Amino acid sequence: MRFDLHTHSRVSDGTDAPADLVRAAAASGLDVVALTDHDTAVGWDEAASAAEQVGIRLVRGMEVSTRHDGRGVHLLAYLPDPTYPPLVAILEKVLAGRSGRVPAIVAALRAHGVAVTEADVQAASGHAAAAGRPHVADALVALGHVVDRDQAFRELLEPGRPGYVNRWAAPLVETIRVVREAGGVSVVAHPWGRRGRSALGAATIAGLREHGLVGIEVDHQDHDAAARAELRGIAQDLDLVVTGSSDFHGLGKVDHELGVNTTAPEELERLLAMAAAAAAASGRTAPPVVGP
Ligand code: AMP
Ligand code: ZN
Ligand code: FE
Ligand code: FE
Repeated sequence: MRFDLHTHSRVSDGTDAPADLVRAAAASGLDVVALTDHDTAVGWDEAASAAEQVGIRLVRGMEVSTRHDGRGVHLLAYLPDPTYPPLVAILEKVLAGRSGRVPAIVAALRAHGVAVTEADVQAASGHAAAAGRPHVADALVALGHVVDRDQAFRELLEPGRPGYVNRWAAPLVETIRVVREAGGVSVVAHPWGRRGRSALGAATIAGLREHGLVGIEVDHQDHDAAARAELRGIAQDLDLVVTGSSDFHGLGKVDHELGVNTTAPEELERLLAMAAAAAAASGRTAPPVVGP
């Protein structure tokens, strides 16, 4: 059985429609896929219909942009009630920060001599509820300024580069609490992602567990073998769920094909059991897992 718990559709910065992503997941031999677009549940219904049609299990999730001790942390929230007002409020604020940042990035790039307009970015992000730097990157590719998203990030969009603009992110501890109150469970995505292991140490992860964190994403393309081994040890010490996933973005991210990393069946069982317990305790109606 192959379970992939972290993917993006064009509702955020992936390139596939949610239904196409779900069909591709089934075709690639996955038994479970989670749709986890950045900061939105907008793709869930379309993905759920497709999952029913092709007979794959779908776990509804989202990847929330949070901040902790001044650092960005991506938090995977699985199966929260997306209508829980405090969660709605967090997502609205993050999405407002996302759309408000686009004009600022465009202005910064133009000041740097890169000819790009808000309309160019709009054309690139047409299907997205959550606009992001990848859409700016796509506009720069379309205009011929760079060859791909990766070059756009490296040269223009990463922190310290001319087009980088910060945006609002939700407080991490509060978000973990709100996700639990919404009947869902929280897993830190790629805890030692691009910035390396200095980002979130064992002590910090232990503290987050006290606030309701249930798991960490260990098997992710941003983690090398040594990082995975060390993170697995931390998860074991803290009795946290270990997940593995592709962080698929369609054509938007190389080397992140569906199923490139997967989650073990017993880990998914634990995750779903904790989500069921959170839903029961919350009194909210959490979305069911779709499919067989
Ligand atoms: P934003 O959400 O606007 O802050 O943009 C960050 C997102 O861009 C991340 O969640 C990744 O999905 C994506 N990203 C970051 N670096 C790269 C890269 N080098 N190539 C492609 N996508 C990237
Ligand atoms: Zn992304
Ligand atoms: Fe992420
Ligand atoms: Fe992601």
